[in-house]
Amino acid sequence: MSPQEPNSPWICHVCDTKGQGESQTCSNCYKVACLQHIQHVTSYNPQTGLYQLMPVCLDCAIREAIQ
Ligand SMILES: [Zn+2]
Ligand SMILES: [Zn+2]
Repeated sequence: MSPQEPNSPWICHVCDTKGQGESQTCSNCYKVACLQHIQHVTSYNPQTGLYQLMPVCLDCAIREAIQ
């Protein structure tokens, strides 16, 4: 078994949707979510001085909106 299977199954931690292949991983909590529960937010990276799009799951997006 190789660690990088192209069609490895994944499951959304928000809604339990199952999928295969390309998955979206939250850059904050590193959990996998489906396309409906991942959003891309613009985040400033002080190391590169550039803004970059970071995938963030709904859980983390809500948490940041509350703060
Ligand atoms: Zn989902
Ligand atoms: Zn998250």
